Amino acid sequence: MQQFEQYINGKFVKSTSSEVTEVLNPCTEEVLSTIPHGSVEDANNALDAAQNAHHAWKSLPAIQRANYLNKMADVIRENRIFLAKTLASEQAKVIGLAQVEIDVTADYFDYYSGFARRIEGEIIQSDRSKEHIFLHKAPIGVAVGILPWNWPFFVMARKVAASLITGNTCVIKPSCIAPNTIMEWVKMIQKIELPAGVLNIVCGSGPIVGNALSKSPTTGIISLTGSVFAGQKVMEAASANITKVSLELGGKAPAIVCADANLELAVNAIVTSRITYSGQICNCAERVYVEESIHDQFLEMVTAKMKAVTVEDAFSDNNPDMSALVSKDQLDKVSEMVEFAKKEGAEVLVGGSRSPQFNKGYFYQPTLLTNIKQDMQIMQEEVFGPVLPVMKFGTLDEAIALANDSEFGLTSSIFSENFNKVMHAAEELQYGETYINREHFEAIQGFHAGWKKSGLGGADGKHGMEEYLQTKVVYAQYR
Ligand code: NAD
Repeated sequence: MQQFEQYINGKFVKSTSSEVTEVLNPCTEEVLSTIPHGSVEDANNALDAAQNAHHAWKSLPAIQRANYLNKMADVIRENRIFLAKTLASEQAKVIGLAQVEIDVTADYFDYYSGFARRIEGEIIQSDRSKEHIFLHKAPIGVAVGILPWNWPFFVMARKVAASLITGNTCVIKPSCIAPNTIMEWVKMIQKIELPAGVLNIVCGSGPIVGNALSKSPTTGIISLTGSVFAGQKVMEAASANITKVSLELGGKAPAIVCADANLELAVNAIVTSRITYSGQICNCAERVYVEESIHDQFLEMVTAKMKAVTVEDAFSDNNPDMSALVSKDQLDKVSEMVEFAKKEGAEVLVGGSRSPQFNKGYFYQPTLLTNIKQDMQIMQEEVFGPVLPVMKFGTLDEAIALANDSEFGLTSSIFSENFNKVMHAAEELQYGETYINREHFEAIQGFHAGWKKSGLGGADGKHGMEEYLQTKVVYAQYR
């Protein structure tokens, strides 16, 4: 069993706390590793290391920083099978999908390395003669990245690649639930000889380590991916020093299916979106609105598709559609929300309880709910499990109003063959992302950003890189 340590200033070091957290395999409940239950001192040591490394790192030409990113990607590709297995075991992601996450993470480092020659400022016309106004883009300093467990390796790259290419140094706090793949990779990248302190990893709880990283005056930007609750805590802590925050938080993605949609495409996209990684993806379809005239046909098709979903151990050779939920807490939360929905009047068409065929592990059945009303908890709060509630609508504007009736604003989708309808919906849906006639998955060159309580700022592409830069204007008067 691995016993991971903190990674600070280029070395693996013991935590100043002697407590550890066990990392479990969610399919078997066996202990895979331990990580430090880190301390405030660990967090501050990591921040100091990052701050000390910052001047030399930002002074390197960006193209040299990019070389390190390319080497990070190479290490991932050299070890892709081992890393995928590590990821599958710690978070019950079916092995094929774990492989996708590993490969996309490598691509992400390479993609961001390409910004080395594209970090650009501006020259602005002055009102004075013999003056140039130079607008520079500068790194912020020390970037803190706080990670969730659902895409732990990919979200790590989102924060590390964008921080490092822009000349920031970095402190990462993984989720205690799924830190193993990151810790294994950090051991592997020792051979690329990244300067000490440029990347630091501290493990520990949100309220202790996450809070210490968020409220320190050393921190220049905190990028958190996680729940709205954690986002609120980070904002509170960051307010002490007016530290910049970038937040990617929860969602409650609506999918609107119009009568003129290609129904087979809509059903495949929505069910795939809902059951991929057992429904534990921030932007996958959480609630469906179907036009009245096709409601019964749609439900019949979704019922058949949900019943055919295969649920097995993440390592099964049968290439199952999904595996266990990530933790007992997650299993309890999903079970409680479905039980509450039943009490509120929902009818279960498929599933509706833990998977009976498993004695161990946190397995929940793919679940389809009907007889749904908009004010039910299951339509308002994030489920983060393989549970799909379906409700009817009359007109498109009514569907858009129902979709917008949410405190979240991460992603949304519409299925229709009518160009005018989809463009109208794309304009009116109050979401950072709208998908037309496809499932919910973002591109690394896009911009992943939540509206309302789903976030602040965003990640990916050129705009995601700019999160990690601050602007300085130089007024250059000459004679
Ligand atoms: P979580 O909020 O429980 O934890 C996320 C991280 O925040 C963890 O590292 C945790 O230790 C830390 N944290 C918790 N309290 C903190 C505090 N007081 N101060 C600082 N850090 C703190 O979320 P989770 O269960 O790991 O992930 C699931 C959630 O993440 C879901 O709501 C999901 O929608 C969201 N998510 C959003 C995106 C996105 O791109 N918008 C992507 C993935 C996950």
